[in-house]
Amino acid sequence: MKTFQNLVDEVQKPGYCHHCGGCVTFCTAVNYGALKQDEHGTPECIDDSKCIECGLCYTICPEIEELDLDTKNLVSWVPPVGRVLETHIARAKDSSVLKAATDGGVVTGILLQLLDRGHIDGAIVTKQTGPFMREPCLATTAEEIKAAAGFYFDSSHGMKHLGKDYSTYSPSVQEFRPMIQKGLRRVAMVGTPCQIQAVRRMEALSIVPSDTIKYTLGLFCSGNFMFGEKERKKIEEMAGFSWDDMKKVNVKENLMIHLNSGKVVTIPLDKLDFMKRFACKFCSDYSAEYADISFGGIGADEGYTTVITRSPEGRKIFADAKNNTIEVLEDDSHEKTGNALKLITNKTEEKHRFAKKNREEIS
Ligand SMILES: Cc1cc2nc3c(=O)[nH]c(=O)nc-3n(C[C@H](O)[C@H](O)[C@H](O)COP(=O)(O)OP(=O)(O)OC[C@H]3O[C@@H](n4cnc5c(N)ncnc54)[C@H](O)[C@@H]3O)c2cc1C
Ligand code: SF4
Ligand code: SF4
Ligand code: SF4
Repeated sequence: MKTFQNLVDEVQKPGYCHHCGGCVTFCTAVNYGALKQDEHGTPECIDDSKCIECGLCYTICPEIEELDLDTKNLVSWVPPVGRVLETHIARAKDSSVLKAATDGGVVTGILLQLLDRGHIDGAIVTKQTGPFMREPCLATTAEEIKAAAGFYFDSSHGMKHLGKDYSTYSPSVQEFRPMIQKGLRRVAMVGTPCQIQAVRRMEALSIVPSDTIKYTLGLFCSGNFMFGEKERKKIEEMAGFSWDDMKKVNVKENLMIHLNSGKVVTIPLDKLDFMKRFACKFCSDYSAEYADISFGGIGADEGYTTVITRSPEGRKIFADAKNNTIEVLEDDSHEKTGNALKLITNKTEEKHRFAKKNREEIS
C-alpha cells in the first residue's frame, strides 16, 4: 500500500504538488495529528506513528493517476474540455455584487440564491484580508458571501479550511459534532480546478464528507501567480505603473490590472512565467472540467462571466438563479457562447501542450 511517503517522493519532490490540501484534509488519521499543511500550504507528516498506512492520501491526490478513470466516469467527462451541457454569458443583478466582483459576479449571485432558497447552509469561499492576502472562509450568511466576491491570487487552501471544519469522514463522533451543531451539512465549494478534482476523487471513493459538498463551483485557471515583493516590482517596471494605483487584478486571456484612473494595464500571460507557481506548469485543467458549473472571464465582455454548466445540478442552480440574482446577456446567442467555448478549448489545448512539454523536460 502506498502511503504519504510515496506522495512525498512522487509528487512533492519533483514539484508537482499544488497544495490543494486534499491529502491532509482527507487523511484517515488527520484527527490524530498525522498530517498538516505548513504555512506555505505544503503537506507534511507531523507524526509517522499516527499513520495507519491506509493509502488514502496517495489515492486521492489529483497528481496520482490511480483514480483518473473513476473520477472521469463520475462526472461523465468527455474531451476536449469536459462535459458541457450549456454555455452562457451572464452577470449578477445586484449592483453591489457587480461592483465587488471579479467579472460578472455570477459565482456570488448563484451562492446567494442557493442560500436564500435554503439549498445550502454555507459556502467555502475566499475572502481578502489585505492587498495580495487571502483567507479561505466558510460563509454562512449572505453578507459573508458578498464580502468574499472578487478574485485573489495565490491558492486559497480552501481544502485546508474544509479539513478544519469538516474532517468528518473519520468515524470519530466527536469530529462530527461541530458540523452538526452548526447545522452545516450542505455546503457549496468554490475552488480552482485542482481543488475541485480533489473533491471529486473523494466522491469517487465514497468518502464522507463528499456528500456534504452539494455543489462544486469551479473557476477557470491559467495558473497561480505569486505576487511577492520582487515579482510586483518586476511587473511595475515591465508595464510602467504603480501598485498604489491598483483597483483590481483579473485574469482572462491576459493579466489585467485595473487602475484607479480607469486605465487597464494588460500583460500577456506568457510573460508571467517567472511568477507562476512551479506546480502549475504541469497542470492541464483550464476550465474546472470536474465541477458542476465553471466560471471565467474569458470570452465575455468586461463585467460579465462566462459560465459552463456541466452536471444536471449545475444546470439547475444556474436556472434557479437566472432572473433572480443573475441575468444572462441579452444577446446570449450561440455565436457569442460558441466563441467563448472556442477560446476555452484553445486555452485548454495550450495548457495541455505546456504541461506535457514541462513534464517531459523534467522527467
Ligand atoms: C487563481 C485563479 C486563476 C484564474 N485564471 C483565470 C483565467 O485564466 N481565465 C479566466 O477566464 N478566468 C480565470 N479565473 C476565474 C476568474 O478570475 C473569476 O473568478 C471567474 O470569472 C468568476 O467571476 P465572478 O465575477 O462570477 O465571481 P465572483 O462573484 O467575484 O466570485 C468569485 C468567487 O471566487 C472565490 N475566490 C477568489 N479567489 C479565489 C482563489 N484564489 N481560490 C478559490 N476561490 C477564490 C471568491 O471567494 C468568490 O466566491 C481565475 C481565478 C483564479 C482564482
Ligand atoms: S493515515 Fe492514510 S491517509 Fe493518513 S497519512 Fe497515513 S496513509 Fe495517508
Ligand atoms: S493531494 Fe494536493 S496537497 Fe496533497 S500532495 Fe497531492 S497535490 Fe499536494
Ligand atoms: S494551474 Fe490552477 S488548477 Fe492547476 S494547479 Fe495551478 S492553481 Fe491549481
